Amino acid sequence: MTKEFKKSFTQQEAIGDESIALAVEVLESGRLHRYNTLDGEPSQVSLLEQEYAAYQGVRYCLACASGGYALGIALRAAGLKNNESVLTNMYTLAPVPGAIAGSGGRAVFIEIDKNLVLDLDDLTQKANSSGARFLLLSHMRGHIVDMEKLADVVKACNLTLIEDCAHTMGAKWSGTRSGNFGLAGCFSTQTYKHMNSGEGGLITTNDAEFMARCIMMSGSYMLYERHGAAPDPDVFKKIRLQTPNQSGRMDNLRAAILRPQIGKLEANILRWNERYAIVEAKLRQVKNIVVPNRDEKELYVGSSIQFRIPSISEKQAFDFIENNRKLGVEIKWFGSDNPSGFTSNHKSWQYVERQQLDRSDLILSGLFDLRLPLTFSKQDCGLLADIISDCAEKVTINERD
Ligand SMILES: *Cc1c(COP(=O)(O)O)cnc(C)c1O
Repeated sequence: MTKEFKKSFTQQEAIGDESIALAVEVLESGRLHRYNTLDGEPSQVSLLEQEYAAYQGVRYCLACASGGYALGIALRAAGLKNNESVLTNMYTLAPVPGAIAGSGGRAVFIEIDKNLVLDLDDLTQKANSSGARFLLLSHMRGHIVDMEKLADVVKACNLTLIEDCAHTMGAKWSGTRSGNFGLAGCFSTQTYKHMNSGEGGLITTNDAEFMARCIMMSGSYMLYERHGAAPDPDVFKKIRLQTPNQSGRMDNLRAAILRPQIGKLEANILRWNERYAIVEAKLRQVKNIVVPNRDEKELYVGSSIQFRIPSISEKQAFDFIENNRKLGVEIKWFGSDNPSGFTSNHKSWQYVERQQLDRSDLILSGLFDLRLPLTFSKQDCGLLADIISDCAEKVTINERD
């Protein structure tokens, strides 16, 4: 085979001119701290909070230092106490169990199914057996569980739902934006997500007291009246002296870079999904490969794609990845016990009590993943899918699941 893929899987698009111009204005002003404003001047961070709240269709938004930080303070602001259990997907990325541990909680992992979403029976069972009050639902790699069925479990088990929307910014279920199904949605604006400010996080909610606590925690130095999408100052009176400052603010430079990107999200979602559709259609033709199914109610963002080669052995998986790599296609494998790059597996989170998750482990052992950055053209996507298909056809699988 002579085909070879030449582009980088970690190359995002350049930051646009509007963002650059706004960023330069901030730099020239010297006022980079979110509370360093002239009289009556709204900060870039406050404007971002207003604009993102409007996009998301919620009342309140807080911009902060990272997606992982957002998850951690959301849990504390929701009332998590030390050593309390927090239910979460076993299939997620390190910042999720990390945020739970960092805010004093104990992760209880829920199994996933073959379509990579939460197993709701396991959720019900573990909610009951652990007595957990919180569910930190990670829409890992943009796969959204049936949110109507989930709502039934959340209600029956009396859970507080916080959504990790690091991969679902802009996505919807049945017309409702991901992040709007529970108490709060947490987003990341780190370079590899759907908006890029290098680092950054957003928390959205309609709950005034919860947001007041988040704002105090983020390090508001009693300047909460200067926020863009915050509750009434009265709401802060009750909680302001009881809420620890855990500084993790966003600065005006990052906010300036992000604001113009909100307006581009919807168009970018279409661009991602065109690319996803090309790769998906080709991979579905391959005998060894299973691509997860998506519900019709799910409006996803195809910024990455996952596929399974069920029953692949460890040796075959390494060979498969290596054969792709030689042709320029960088594939991650979720089945590896050794974390590398962004791949994550509960076995590498040894600060969490070890849990038996045999069904999901089996799924992850044949699960592969690649990013589809917008710097890839549609032709690039066709080429990389052809390379993966050729490599997958060479894997000899004895049994199918
Ligand atoms: C990226 C990511 C986060 C948060 O990431 P930060 O790097 O802390 O901004 C949370 N959950 C998942 C699933 C992620 O991929």
